[in-house]
Amino acid sequence: MSVIAQVHTLVPRHAHSVPAPQVVHADAAKLRVAGISKRYGDSFALRESNLDIQTGEFVTLLGPSGSGKTTLLMMIAGLVTPTAGDIWIDGRAATRQQPYERDVGMMFQSYALFPHMTVGENIAFPLKMKGASKESIRKAVNEVLEQIKLPSLRNRFPGELSGGQQQRVALARSIVHRPSVVLMDEPLAALDKSLRTHMQLEIRQLQQALGITVLYVTHDQEEAMTMSDRICLMNEARIEQVAAPAELYFSPRSVFAAGFLGESNTLEGVIESIEGETALVRHADTVLRGRLMNDACVGARCRLMVRPEALTVSDGPWVALGNVIDAHVTSQVIGGALARTVMRARTGVEVVATRLTARSGARPQGDVRVSFAEEDSLVFGEAS
Ligand code: ADP
Ligand code: MG
Repeated sequence: MSVIAQVHTLVPRHAHSVPAPQVVHADAAKLRVAGISKRYGDSFALRESNLDIQTGEFVTLLGPSGSGKTTLLMMIAGLVTPTAGDIWIDGRAATRQQPYERDVGMMFQSYALFPHMTVGENIAFPLKMKGASKESIRKAVNEVLEQIKLPSLRNRFPGELSGGQQQRVALARSIVHRPSVVLMDEPLAALDKSLRTHMQLEIRQLQQALGITVLYVTHDQEEAMTMSDRICLMNEARIEQVAAPAELYFSPRSVFAAGFLGESNTLEGVIESIEGETALVRHADTVLRGRLMNDACVGARCRLMVRPEALTVSDGPWVALGNVIDAHVTSQVIGGALARTVMRARTGVEVVATRLTARSGARPQGDVRVSFAEEDSLVFGEAS
């Protein structure tokens, strides 16, 4: 548990209104969201949620449309009032602060640049609001223009810039005043794929070089995987799991998480026995071994999930890995770097395997044996 210290600001005796005590977290995370929720009428846009972000971290809220990502971000920005819970920015209570009092920078999908101001004036805006001196503004704007590699565009107007350039200016404006946390809501969603990929790397490099703390929102799993130190996966107004990208991919804690990131084959069955962290699953007439991912009991119905790239397909008697199911190849597709083999298992379920394409690669045909390792099989039991 964190220690909370109450620091009372000194107030002159004659003051009519006494400001609320300033509450400071001793072990300050850069951003802390504690028990926060938002309800509209009878429905929750966000159920009670907790999240801590450390200095210099890049954390992404990832989830389907309507899962509550923007609501959470807007509450941190101060643009939506929480139904319950608290927000701490750099150890200071921010829940009741106005948006402009919070030490945050913001960047959104719509460029939201002021059309009548030049690039330089747009970027200077947050500093002007803070009352910075002319000289320090000039210095900070020059520095950030170098960082986003657009020094020559200082005197242009937003209407004279490409979409990518506009987003870069918006990025500069969100960081120029060195906020504690930069909030970004789908900032690249309007850009085409190649520019988006380019900007993802650029934002990530700048964030790392400057040690900025970012809370980013996207519904694009690839973008989240590419950019983040940690991903906060959201679904139906809840945080499902918070983990580093690789951990979320290889050790999802729910069927939703396993299904949302990447592709999975799903085999249904019943947990026949449990040996430590291993579940033995009866799937038709075979028993498959996998990692038990929740606290399900023997006898529970379950899903065994395994990634397409974890499957080895053999059309001989030879099998590579511990779990084996018999199947029949129904189609093969080369989709670029990956080749997909679609099969019908003897138990009726469709199974997909992927592997790297190779010019001379032998393709399994007809009846095959599909094998996969216990470590790659994730078992999710249903609550009884
Ligand atoms: P996301 O950003 O993940 O797509 P949002 O946070 O925008 O999701 O929305 C979460 C849920 O809250 C949605 O069901 C949405 O319809 C609802 N919601 C958001 N804003 C409002 C509002 N002002 N009034 C009523 N419902 C809202
Ligand atoms: Mg949104």
